[in-house]
Amino acid sequence: MSNTQTIEEGTEAKKIPELEHRNFRNDEFWQKIPGWSTVTRDEFNDHKWQVKNSVQKIKQVQKILGPLCTPELLSDLEAGQKITPMNIRITPYMFALIDWTNPWDDPLRKQFLPLGSQFLPDHAYYEADSLGEDTDSPVPMLTHRYPDKVLFLPTTICPVYCSYCTRSRIIGGSTETVDKSTYGANQKKWDDAFEYLLRNPLIEDVVISGGDSYMLTPKQLKYIGESLLKIPHIRRIRYATKGIAIFPQKILTDDDWVNALRDVHEFGRRYGKQVVVHTHFSSPQEITKASQQAMDRLFSLGILVRNQAVLQSGVNNSVDTMVKLTRQLGFINVQPYYVYMHDMVPGCEHFRTTLAEGIELEKAVRGTTAGFNTPTFVCDLPGGGGKRHVASYEYYDKENGISVWRAPYVKPGELFTYFDPIHKLSKEAQKRWADKATVEAMVKEAKSKVE
Ligand code: SF4
Repeated sequence: MSNTQTIEEGTEAKKIPELEHRNFRNDEFWQKIPGWSTVTRDEFNDHKWQVKNSVQKIKQVQKILGPLCTPELLSDLEAGQKITPMNIRITPYMFALIDWTNPWDDPLRKQFLPLGSQFLPDHAYYEADSLGEDTDSPVPMLTHRYPDKVLFLPTTICPVYCSYCTRSRIIGGSTETVDKSTYGANQKKWDDAFEYLLRNPLIEDVVISGGDSYMLTPKQLKYIGESLLKIPHIRRIRYATKGIAIFPQKILTDDDWVNALRDVHEFGRRYGKQVVVHTHFSSPQEITKASQQAMDRLFSLGILVRNQAVLQSGVNNSVDTMVKLTRQLGFINVQPYYVYMHDMVPGCEHFRTTLAEGIELEKAVRGTTAGFNTPTFVCDLPGGGGKRHVASYEYYDKENGISVWRAPYVKPGELFTYFDPIHKLSKEAQKRWADKATVEAMVKEAKSKVE
C-alpha cells in the first residue's frame, strides 16, 4: 500500500504520450464482477438500475464479489466500518471500476470503501467542523463567510459516500463513531434561507451543495434554482454534485432531471445570470466513455461544468496522475478549477498530504495545458479563513509541518494554521509531536514569526 507516498521537491511530470488522455474505456468492465456478469450494457446504463443496485453494506460487497472478496479483504472492510465516520454507498459504476485484483492500492476503493488497516490516529488539531461552517451559519443550511457568496446545503444525502468527506459530521446516516442529524429536503427551511438572502443585497453567488444536488428531485432542483435566480442581486448559482464523476448514467438516461437542470439554466440566461455545475473527479480511473458522453450532453445544452478535486495520498498525489486528470478533464469539457488540500477532519489522516506536496504538484501541473484549464491548488483554512493558494502562506515550518496563514479580507487580523500529517514528518519531528507542551511551543513559535 502506498499511503505514505510523498512528492519530492522539483518532481517533474513525465511527458504523457500525446493522445493517451483521449482514451476512455468503453468495455463491459462490470461483467468482470461475478454478481453482474450477465448485466447488459442497456441495464447497466439505466440510472434506475444503478440506484437500485448501489452497494450499501459489506454483506453486499461480499455477495457481489463472490470469490474476489477474500477473507482478508472482508475482515479489513468490516474493521473499516468500526472506525469510519461515513456510511457506505457506492454506485455499481464506481464499484465495477475498482481493480478487484488489487483492491488494497486502488484509488477508487480507497475513496469509497475504507479498510480498517488504512486508518491512522487523527491529528491533534483535527476538528469535525474544521472549516467552521457551522460557526459562520446565520440560518440553518446556510454558511455565509465571503461577503458576496454563500454556501447552501439543502440536503445531507449523496449518491455515494466518500471516505474523505469534509462534512462527515452531517452527511449520510450515523455510523459506529459519529451520531448525525442528517436531513433531507425541507422546503420551509429552504424558504427561510431564501428570506435571509433576500435581506442581504451584498450576496451575488450561491453554491448549492450538501449532500449532493443529484439527490434533489427535478421539482426540487427547479424550485431551488428559480427561487434563487428570482432574487434580484443573486447573479450566479452553482449546483455541486459528484454525480457526473460517479454516476454519469443519470445524465445519460434521467431525462426529467436533466431537463430540470436545462430549464433552470435557460431561466438564468433569460435573467442574464449564470447557472453552472461543479463536480468532483479525483482520479483518471473515474473517467470513461460514459463520462465523456454525459459531458457531451451537458455541453450541448450550454451548461458549464467545473471540477473540484481533493488531493489524497495514494489516490492522486503523483504528478503523472494529476497531469493526466487535468488533461482528461479538459478534453471532455470539464474545467479543472480547484485541487484542495485535504481538510483536517476525522478519519482522514491517511489521505492527507503535506503542504509541500501540494505546492510541488501545482508547480509540476502548471504549463502542461492551457492556463484556464489548470486547477488552482488551495488550502481551505481550518477555522474559516477561506480558500488560499497553497503557496500564499505567511510562514511554513516544513520540518514540523506547521504553516501559518492570514485571510485579510475574510477575517482581518486573524492568524490561521494548517498542519501536515505527522506520519509524513521526520522521525525527530514525530517525537516532538508526541509531547503536548512541545507542540504548543512549536505552534506558538510559528505564529510569532508573523505576528
Ligand atoms: S458527494 Fe460530497 S458531500 Fe457527499 S459524501 Fe462525497 S464529498 Fe461528502
